[in-house]
Amino acid sequence: MSHTLRLHDFLPISHANGPGNRTVVWLQGCSLGCPGCFNQDTHSVDGGDVVAVDDLFTRITSLSDSIEGVTISGGEPLQQFIPIVALLHRIKKETSLSVLVFSGFTWNEIQKMEIAHRNRHAENLLNSPLPYIDILIAGRYDPTKRVAHDLYGSANQTVHFLTDRYTLADLACLPETEVVISLDGDVIVSGIDPIEF
Ligand code: SF4
Repeated sequence: MSHTLRLHDFLPISHANGPGNRTVVWLQGCSLGCPGCFNQDTHSVDGGDVVAVDDLFTRITSLSDSIEGVTISGGEPLQQFIPIVALLHRIKKETSLSVLVFSGFTWNEIQKMEIAHRNRHAENLLNSPLPYIDILIAGRYDPTKRVAHDLYGSANQTVHFLTDRYTLADLACLPETEVVISLDGDVIVSGIDPIEF
């Protein structure tokens, strides 16, 4: 079965969205409504572009020689649950790229989501993203607890190292903001502290 994702933006190489050189995929659509969200353009479920998961996978793997991993952000990636799990499954099974995911859902909410999917689709391989993720940053952004470093937007968020590929030390030396200007003049400001830019 071919899956599609609603994509907000794609950055081939970033240094501020996880360890090493990483491709960043921002997904479109988020209903969580965190006050002070920097990425409000990603909220509408009608925005962005619809892309085939297989095409997005090919676009990512064409960069494999230049990156060590992929960062999935949003928007809320897990509100496109089945197709994002399909993409992560392919990345994990068919490449050596690492996977970092930012989700506004808490760890407990993600666990419940997983159980619900497993109950509904017992035989479906795509009922959990967790086996395919190296680092998960979980939880809503709370501007009253803003910290904006080491990939934490706010202190209530939690970081989960789901494999032994990385440790907290790998997050400690990352630039907090990055500005990328493409050859056609597009500007992407990203990182954990874009508000300060
Ligand atoms: S989950 Fe992320 S994209 Fe959604 S409102 Fe919160 S900070 Fe913004």
